[in-house]
Amino acid sequence: MKVVDTNVIIHGRGLEEKALITLGVERELKTEGSKISRLALNIETVQPSKTSLNKVNQKADQICSQASKVDQSLVALAIDREKVLMTDDKELQNLAYHMNVEVEGFLDRPSKRKISWKMKCPSCGKQTDKKCESCGVTPVRKRDQYSSV
Ligand SMILES: [Zn+2]
Repeated sequence: MKVVDTNVIIHGRGLEEKALITLGVERELKTEGSKISRLALNIETVQPSKTSLNKVNQKADQICSQASKVDQSLVALAIDREKVLMTDDKELQNLAYHMNVEVEGFLDRPSKRKISWKMKCPSCGKQTDKKCESCGVTPVRKRDQYSSV
């Protein structure tokens, strides 16, 4: 049993084990229409605990992750169930690494880097979440730290 993202379900014809998804993924799949309902996959929808969701959300903010709410719910579910997360989404993989969730690639090998970012003024380099007070420029995401996984 694995937690999987929307993309894995859509292309997951070879997926032989049970897949756990969250409501957010289920909604994304519905927009894909009847194509999905014809897949003979064993899928269960489970909502992650609030505790894990909060932890993941805090970490995402802390590292300036651009992982979506749906992505965050998948990491939280993987924590709750102590399961591997299968995804090719690098942003999602990265957030999972920060939460010590085991990651498996689907069509590609998973990323080997664990990265965190900070929002910085592109002009003077000052760390800021809002428009830079000195330069009046909108901050951009800059890599802060990274390590191998
Ligand atoms: Zn500045």
